[in-house]
Amino acid sequence: LVSRETKAGDTLIQVGEVTIGNGHLTIIAGPCAIESETQAITIAGYVKKAGAHLFRGGAFKPRTSPYSFQGLGEEGLKILAKVRERTGMPVVTEVMDFPTFDQVEHYSDVLQIGTRNMQNFSLLKRAGESYRPILLKRGMAATIEEWLMAAEYIMAQGNHQVILCERGVRTFVHHSRNTLDLSAVPVVRKESHLPIIVDPSHAAGRRDQVLPLSRAAVAANAHGLMVEVHHQPEKALSDGAQSLYPDQFDILCRQVTDIFAVS
Ligand code: PEP
Ligand code: MN
Repeated sequence: LVSRETKAGDTLIQVGEVTIGNGHLTIIAGPCAIESETQAITIAGYVKKAGAHLFRGGAFKPRTSPYSFQGLGEEGLKILAKVRERTGMPVVTEVMDFPTFDQVEHYSDVLQIGTRNMQNFSLLKRAGESYRPILLKRGMAATIEEWLMAAEYIMAQGNHQVILCERGVRTFVHHSRNTLDLSAVPVVRKESHLPIIVDPSHAAGRRDQVLPLSRAAVAANAHGLMVEVHHQPEKALSDGAQSLYPDQFDILCRQVTDIFAVS
């Protein structure tokens, strides 16, 4: 189902008034985690003004350490709903497990499955029964074939609204958190009709690489970007080092819009 051989043309995914897929450049932005209503509303104001189409923010966070901030849970979901109400931007948030699935599905416009859950097959099957579009991140050590098969799990249950997201793979380097595999973009575009976006923030792990990687992703014909932005990154409860300041995000939006226009 994921293959171009099974479908003519490209899949377009409609989220409210936003269309994701060929011919569109969709920018998703927001903090790594929802920390408070004030934090979320403040950042949402900045990213909307800069040109973001969707707002992101984790309520359930898959943290490496159990002692790190785990997210606000349902309170975070309610804040996301408020952001949508205030700004009109649809919201994207991660769904981590079965027990919280219905809750996340209720509050969020797009459900994200993170890199650590890309091969959580029971979660993928549940996502396949969802009425929401699924943003499926590439596993940090997954081949493109494995990633597309994970999308197939979702589609096989009847949900054909899948957005793929390249977010970097694990390599031996120390100059970035992961290594952005931009070659995934042309390969996926060739093999599949599904939209593919790029997350330069989790790929880089540091904000100085986010702008150049974003430009490169759009030049490579990605259908969009997902970028972490924080108004006070030094105080962020997660991923502050890779979060852009609002003025940097503003520059990013202008530059990638120009690149999209000429490509
Ligand atoms: C995220 O986008 O919030 C996230 C945790 O990303 P990843 O699953 O790619 O690490
Ligand atoms: Mn993050």
